[in-house]
Amino acid sequence: MKWLEHQRIRYTLSHHPIPHQAWENLMHNGYAAVFREMSAVERAHLRELTTLFLRQKTLSGAQGLEVSTEMVLAVAAQACVPILKLGLDYYNSWVEIVIYPGAFRVARDAADEAGVVSRQEQTLSGESWARGPVILSWDDMASELAGSRPGQNVVMHELAHKLDMLNGDANGMPPLHSDMVRQQWTDVFSSAFEYLQRQLEHHFHPDINSYAATSPAEFFAVVSEYFFTDPHRLHQRFAEVYEQLVLFYRQNPLLRFSSSGAPGSE
Ligand SMILES: [Zn+2]
Repeated sequence: MKWLEHQRIRYTLSHHPIPHQAWENLMHNGYAAVFREMSAVERAHLRELTTLFLRQKTLSGAQGLEVSTEMVLAVAAQACVPILKLGLDYYNSWVEIVIYPGAFRVARDAADEAGVVSRQEQTLSGESWARGPVILSWDDMASELAGSRPGQNVVMHELAHKLDMLNGDANGMPPLHSDMVRQQWTDVFSSAFEYLQRQLEHHFHPDINSYAATSPAEFFAVVSEYFFTDPHRLHQRFAEVYEQLVLFYRQNPLLRFSSSGAPGSE
Protein backbone atom coordinates (compact mmCIF):
# COMPACT_ATOMS: atom_id res chain seq x y z
CA MET A 1 0.00 0.00 0.00
CA LYS A 2 1.27 3.46 -0.84
CA TRP A 3 2.56 5.58 2.04
CA LEU A 4 0.14 8.43 1.38
CA GLU A 5 -2.84 6.15 1.20
CA HIS A 6 -1.75 4.46 4.39
CA GLN A 7 -1.56 7.85 6.14
CA ARG A 8 -5.00 8.80 4.87
CA ILE A 9 -6.48 5.59 6.23
CA ARG A 10 -4.82 6.13 9.61
CA TYR A 11 -6.14 9.70 9.67
CA THR A 12 -9.70 8.60 8.90
CA LEU A 13 -9.61 5.88 11.54
CA SER A 14 -8.39 8.23 14.26
CA HIS A 15 -10.34 11.38 13.32
CA HIS A 16 -13.67 9.92 12.24
CA PRO A 17 -14.22 7.03 14.60
CA ILE A 18 -17.56 5.27 14.79
CA PRO A 19 -19.43 6.15 18.01
CA HIS A 20 -18.38 3.40 20.40
CA GLN A 21 -21.70 2.67 22.09
CA ALA A 22 -23.67 2.58 18.84
CA TRP A 23 -21.16 0.12 17.40
CA GLU A 24 -21.23 -2.12 20.45
CA ASN A 25 -25.03 -2.13 20.41
CA LEU A 26 -25.07 -3.23 16.80
CA MET A 27 -22.50 -5.98 17.37
CA HIS A 28 -23.96 -7.41 20.56
CA ASN A 29 -27.64 -6.60 20.58
CA GLY A 30 -28.43 -10.27 20.55
CA TYR A 31 -30.33 -10.62 17.32
CA ALA A 32 -27.95 -9.60 14.54
CA ALA A 33 -26.42 -13.06 14.21
CA VAL A 34 -24.23 -12.07 11.31
CA PHE A 35 -22.15 -9.84 13.61
CA ARG A 36 -22.49 -11.76 16.83
CA GLU A 37 -20.94 -14.89 15.35
CA MET A 38 -17.80 -13.09 14.21
CA SER A 39 -14.56 -13.39 16.13
CA ALA A 40 -13.22 -10.35 17.97
CA VAL A 41 -10.51 -10.00 15.31
CA GLU A 42 -13.07 -10.07 12.49
CA ARG A 43 -15.21 -7.50 14.28
CA ALA A 44 -12.21 -5.19 14.73
CA HIS A 45 -11.46 -5.51 11.04
CA LEU A 46 -15.12 -4.90 10.17
CA ARG A 47 -15.11 -1.76 12.30
CA GLU A 48 -12.11 -0.34 10.44
CA LEU A 49 -13.61 -1.17 7.10
CA THR A 50 -16.96 0.36 8.11
CA THR A 51 -15.21 3.57 9.23
CA LEU A 52 -13.51 3.91 5.85
CA PHE A 53 -16.70 2.95 4.03
CA LEU A 54 -18.57 5.79 5.74
CA ARG A 55 -15.97 8.32 4.56
CA GLN A 56 -16.32 7.16 0.96
CA LYS A 57 -20.07 6.67 0.62
CA THR A 58 -23.10 8.86 1.15
CA LEU A 59 -26.18 7.48 2.87
CA SER A 60 -29.40 9.44 2.66
CA GLY A 61 -33.07 8.96 3.39
CA ALA A 62 -35.82 9.24 0.78
CA GLN A 63 -39.48 10.23 1.25
CA GLY A 64 -38.65 12.19 4.39
CA LEU A 65 -36.95 9.29 6.17
CA GLU A 66 -34.61 10.59 8.87
CA VAL A 67 -31.50 8.45 8.87
CA SER A 68 -30.16 7.99 12.40
CA THR A 69 -26.62 7.06 13.42
CA GLU A 70 -27.86 3.57 14.26
CA MET A 71 -29.36 3.14 10.78
CA VAL A 72 -26.23 4.41 9.05
CA LEU A 73 -24.08 2.02 11.06
CA ALA A 74 -26.38 -0.93 10.50
CA VAL A 75 -26.34 -0.41 6.73
CA ALA A 76 -22.60 0.28 6.50
CA ALA A 77 -21.54 -2.62 8.70
CA GLN A 78 -23.76 -5.08 6.79
CA ALA A 79 -22.43 -3.70 3.51
CA CYS A 80 -18.87 -4.34 4.64
CA VAL A 81 -19.39 -8.01 5.57
CA PRO A 82 -19.17 -9.32 1.96
CA ILE A 83 -15.96 -7.37 1.31
CA LEU A 84 -14.32 -8.13 4.65
CA LYS A 85 -11.60 -10.10 2.84
CA LEU A 86 -11.89 -8.42 -0.56
CA GLY A 87 -11.35 -4.79 0.39
CA LEU A 88 -13.20 -1.54 -0.23
CA ASP A 89 -11.93 -1.26 -3.82
CA TYR A 90 -14.64 -3.75 -4.76
CA TYR A 91 -17.15 -0.94 -4.12
CA ASN A 92 -15.27 1.72 -6.09
CA SER A 93 -17.81 1.97 -8.91
CA TRP A 94 -20.54 3.65 -6.84
CA VAL A 95 -20.90 6.08 -3.91
CA GLU A 96 -24.51 6.47 -2.94
CA ILE A 97 -26.96 4.53 -0.79
CA VAL A 98 -30.55 5.75 -0.63
CA ILE A 99 -32.82 4.38 2.08
CA TYR A 100 -36.60 4.35 1.70
CA PRO A 101 -38.85 3.99 4.74
CA GLY A 102 -40.53 0.90 3.29
CA ALA A 103 -40.81 -1.15 0.12
CA PHE A 104 -40.92 1.21 -2.83
CA ARG A 105 -42.73 1.10 -6.12
CA VAL A 106 -40.89 1.55 -9.36
CA ALA A 107 -42.31 1.90 -12.84
CA ARG A 108 -40.23 1.18 -15.89
CA ASP A 109 -40.56 0.11 -19.48
CA ALA A 110 -40.23 -3.58 -20.22
CA ALA A 111 -40.41 -5.34 -23.57
CA ASP A 112 -42.37 -8.56 -23.95
CA GLU A 113 -41.48 -11.46 -26.26
CA ALA A 114 -43.14 -9.76 -29.22
CA GLY A 115 -41.06 -6.64 -28.61
CA VAL A 116 -43.95 -4.59 -27.29
CA VAL A 117 -42.77 -2.17 -24.65
CA SER A 118 -45.09 -1.42 -21.77
CA ARG A 119 -44.90 0.39 -18.49
CA GLN A 120 -44.66 -2.04 -15.56
CA GLU A 121 -44.82 -1.43 -11.85
CA GLN A 122 -43.10 -3.48 -9.20
CA THR A 123 -42.73 -3.28 -5.45
CA LEU A 124 -39.13 -3.69 -4.38
CA SER A 125 -37.21 -3.87 -1.13
CA GLY A 126 -33.92 -3.04 -2.79
CA GLU A 127 -32.39 -2.16 -6.11
CA SER A 128 -28.91 -1.77 -7.61
CA TRP A 129 -27.91 -0.08 -10.82
CA ALA A 130 -24.59 -0.64 -12.56
CA ARG A 131 -23.22 2.82 -11.80
CA GLY A 132 -26.05 4.35 -9.82
CA PRO A 133 -27.00 4.19 -6.17
CA VAL A 134 -27.91 1.22 -4.04
CA ILE A 135 -31.54 1.62 -2.97
CA LEU A 136 -32.80 -0.07 0.18
CA SER A 137 -35.95 -0.30 2.25
CA TRP A 138 -35.50 0.31 5.97
CA ASP A 139 -38.59 -1.76 6.87
CA ASP A 140 -37.02 -4.86 5.37
CA MET A 141 -33.65 -4.19 6.97
CA ALA A 142 -35.24 -3.68 10.37
CA SER A 143 -37.07 -7.02 10.29
CA GLU A 144 -33.91 -8.78 9.14
CA LEU A 145 -31.89 -7.24 11.95
CA ALA A 146 -34.61 -8.35 14.34
CA GLY A 147 -33.96 -11.91 13.20
CA SER A 148 -37.37 -12.56 11.73
CA ARG A 149 -36.12 -13.48 8.26
CA PRO A 150 -33.32 -16.04 8.51
CA GLY A 151 -31.35 -16.32 5.31
CA GLN A 152 -32.49 -12.93 4.04
CA ASN A 153 -30.50 -9.73 3.93
CA VAL A 154 -31.49 -6.96 1.54
CA VAL A 155 -28.19 -5.08 1.99
CA MET A 156 -26.05 -8.06 1.06
CA HIS A 157 -28.42 -8.96 -1.75
CA GLU A 158 -28.05 -5.57 -3.43
CA LEU A 159 -24.30 -5.49 -2.88
CA ALA A 160 -23.95 -8.95 -4.39
CA HIS A 161 -25.50 -7.41 -7.53
CA LYS A 162 -22.87 -4.64 -7.38
CA LEU A 163 -20.08 -7.22 -7.18
CA ASP A 164 -21.69 -9.20 -10.01
CA MET A 165 -21.77 -6.04 -12.16
CA LEU A 166 -18.03 -5.35 -11.74
CA ASN A 167 -17.38 -7.37 -14.89
CA GLY A 168 -20.33 -6.27 -17.02
CA ASP A 169 -24.04 -7.01 -16.79
CA ALA A 170 -25.44 -8.78 -13.76
CA ASN A 171 -25.30 -12.41 -14.88
CA GLY A 172 -24.55 -14.32 -11.69
CA MET A 173 -20.79 -14.37 -12.13
CA PRO A 174 -18.67 -11.70 -10.43
CA PRO A 175 -15.00 -11.31 -11.42
CA LEU A 176 -13.43 -14.55 -10.20
CA HIS A 177 -10.00 -14.68 -8.56
CA SER A 178 -7.07 -16.16 -10.44
CA ASP A 179 -7.12 -19.30 -8.26
CA MET A 180 -10.73 -20.02 -9.26
CA VAL A 181 -11.94 -22.05 -12.22
CA ARG A 182 -14.50 -20.31 -14.40
CA GLN A 183 -15.93 -23.56 -15.78
CA GLN A 184 -16.40 -24.93 -12.29
CA TRP A 185 -18.33 -21.84 -11.22
CA THR A 186 -20.55 -22.03 -14.31
CA ASP A 187 -21.25 -25.76 -13.91
CA VAL A 188 -22.01 -25.57 -10.20
CA PHE A 189 -24.22 -22.49 -10.45
CA SER A 190 -26.09 -23.65 -13.57
CA SER A 191 -26.97 -27.03 -12.14
CA ALA A 192 -28.10 -25.54 -8.80
CA PHE A 193 -30.17 -22.93 -10.61
CA GLU A 194 -31.81 -25.58 -12.83
CA TYR A 195 -32.43 -27.83 -9.84
CA LEU A 196 -34.25 -24.99 -8.06
CA GLN A 197 -36.33 -24.30 -11.16
CA ARG A 198 -37.31 -27.98 -11.40
CA GLN A 199 -38.34 -27.96 -7.74
CA LEU A 200 -40.64 -25.02 -8.42
CA GLU A 201 -42.05 -26.54 -11.60
CA HIS A 202 -43.01 -29.65 -9.64
CA HIS A 203 -44.45 -27.54 -6.83
CA PHE A 204 -41.95 -28.82 -4.29
CA HIS A 205 -41.18 -26.55 -1.39
CA PRO A 206 -38.01 -24.82 -2.61
CA ASP A 207 -34.81 -25.33 -0.59
CA ILE A 208 -34.10 -21.61 -0.60
CA ASN A 209 -36.06 -18.43 -1.30
CA SER A 210 -37.81 -19.05 -4.63
CA TYR A 211 -36.85 -15.56 -5.80
CA ALA A 212 -33.46 -17.11 -6.59
CA ALA A 213 -35.09 -18.90 -9.54
CA THR A 214 -35.87 -15.59 -11.29
CA SER A 215 -32.51 -15.35 -13.06
CA PRO A 216 -28.84 -16.35 -12.59
CA ALA A 217 -28.17 -12.83 -11.25
CA GLU A 218 -30.88 -13.18 -8.60
CA PHE A 219 -29.65 -16.67 -7.78
CA PHE A 220 -26.18 -15.34 -7.01
CA ALA A 221 -27.61 -12.49 -4.90
CA VAL A 222 -29.94 -14.79 -2.93
CA VAL A 223 -27.32 -17.48 -2.23
CA SER A 224 -24.96 -14.72 -1.09
CA GLU A 225 -27.57 -13.70 1.50
CA TYR A 226 -27.75 -17.27 2.83
CA PHE A 227 -23.97 -17.61 2.71
CA PHE A 228 -23.52 -14.86 5.28
CA THR A 229 -26.70 -15.12 7.35
CA ASP A 230 -27.71 -18.82 7.25
CA PRO A 231 -24.65 -20.70 5.93
CA HIS A 232 -25.82 -24.08 7.28
CA ARG A 233 -28.92 -24.04 5.13
CA LEU A 234 -27.01 -23.14 2.00
CA HIS A 235 -24.32 -25.71 2.69
CA GLN A 236 -26.91 -28.46 3.28
CA ARG A 237 -28.83 -27.70 0.08
CA PHE A 238 -26.12 -26.52 -2.29
CA ALA A 239 -22.73 -27.52 -0.89
CA GLU A 240 -20.85 -26.90 -4.13
CA VAL A 241 -22.34 -23.42 -4.50
CA TYR A 242 -21.29 -22.77 -0.93
CA GLU A 243 -17.71 -23.86 -1.72
CA GLN A 244 -17.53 -21.53 -4.73
CA LEU A 245 -18.70 -18.64 -2.56
CA VAL A 246 -15.99 -19.48 0.00
CA LEU A 247 -13.46 -19.07 -2.81
CA PHE A 248 -14.99 -15.85 -4.08
CA TYR A 249 -15.68 -14.05 -0.78
CA ARG A 250 -12.58 -15.59 0.86
CA GLN A 251 -14.62 -16.26 3.98
CA ASN A 252 -16.10 -19.41 5.49
CA PRO A 253 -19.10 -18.33 7.58
CA LEU A 254 -19.90 -21.97 8.42
CA LEU A 255 -16.84 -22.11 10.69
CA ARG A 256 -17.95 -18.86 12.25
CA PHE A 257 -21.42 -20.14 13.06
CA SER A 258 -20.39 -23.63 14.24
CA SER A 259 -17.75 -22.34 16.64
CA SER A 260 -20.41 -20.63 18.71
CA GLY A 261 -22.13 -23.98 19.29
CA ALA A 262 -25.46 -22.61 18.10
CA PRO A 263 -25.60 -23.45 14.40
CA GLY A 264 -28.61 -22.21 12.54
CA SER A 265 -30.41 -21.11 15.66
CA GLU A 266 -31.23 -17.66 14.32
ZN1 LIG B 1 -31.95 -8.75 -6.84
